[in-house]
Amino acid sequence: MACKGRGAAKDGPVLKKIETIAADGLAYPWAEPPAGTACVEVAPGILWFRIPLPFRLDHVNIYLIEDGDGWAVLDTGISNKATREAWEAIVAGPLAGRPLTRLIVTHFHPDHIGLAGWMCERFGMPLLTSQTGYLGCINISLSPNAMGEKPYQDFYRSHGMSEETAQLVATHGNGYLRMVSPLPPTFRRLVAGDEIEIGGRRFEVLSGDGHAPEQLMLYLAEENVFLAADQVLAKITPNVSVWAVEPEGDPLGLYIRSLSMLERAIPGDALVLPGHQLPFYGLHERARQLAAHHAERCERIAASCAQGPKSVAELVPALFPRPLDPHQLSFAFSETHAHVHYMVGRRELVWDRAEPESLRVRLA
Ligand SMILES: [Zn+2]
Ligand SMILES: [Zn+2]
Repeated sequence: MACKGRGAAKDGPVLKKIETIAADGLAYPWAEPPAGTACVEVAPGILWFRIPLPFRLDHVNIYLIEDGDGWAVLDTGISNKATREAWEAIVAGPLAGRPLTRLIVTHFHPDHIGLAGWMCERFGMPLLTSQTGYLGCINISLSPNAMGEKPYQDFYRSHGMSEETAQLVATHGNGYLRMVSPLPPTFRRLVAGDEIEIGGRRFEVLSGDGHAPEQLMLYLAEENVFLAADQVLAKITPNVSVWAVEPEGDPLGLYIRSLSMLERAIPGDALVLPGHQLPFYGLHERARQLAAHHAERCERIAASCAQGPKSVAELVPALFPRPLDPHQLSFAFSETHAHVHYMVGRRELVWDRAEPESLRVRLA
């Protein structure tokens, strides 16, 4: 095995963790990620690889779980030549030709599902994911220009989105499909509450909403290892956005609920293996930090609305004070929208519907 072992982090778990707590309240057993096609054995029979992404967030974490003679794969990277080459190199190199047995995809974002179709065909393995993730991806491929249609464009404009940004949102489906190879024609459904056996060990399946519908996570109780996908990341706040197809949706409410669920379901001293950045200890601490982050953002919105009714577009600078390009603005807009809906749901804000083409919220 060409992977580095777990090293000092495993011995004297509690003391070691306390000794290494970083300024952010979390502990990072590995200071550096694996480089290139190298990997780190983060727990017995669980390998951590990084696949490059051509974005500001320049990588996604991939985990391989020992599965009999081969390895089960968690997530893929986007569909492009570099990712395909990375997978070929991983299989030929660190895995020394041992087969990939099955692909588990946590959610339908391109960095996680992008290469699923290609990988399942290339390596002859089935796809396991949530029904929502599978159908969400298929739905975009069936109708990539849907966001350009009138009901969705009207929705964005009624909340004050500029013409330029609305046009950009209209093409999001095509941008998505450029990063995703067509999915296999069938999949095996995973549902929260399932237990799946991988290499003789039982992994509990959990799901959480807010970042992506029904995002899957896995917990291996016997090793106290939690594969968290993008639901809880150490230094990034996972994007939580209102989507025009569900214009009254409260994804932030669902996300906060999911954080509380994770605090109840997963021990605070579990090793967290996230979809991006470094593995860490401190799940409960991080869940509370994320909840506090969103609470602080709601306070900023309340302060802005104290000066008068505001549209979602007018509230964006309260949360994102720096200049944004149109692409960043489209995400900032939908993230701001999520906070507004959360606060409306909590009756902290109410809609002012005097002009249906130009909606504003005010303090309740
Ligand atoms: Zn994601
Ligand atoms: Zn991601």
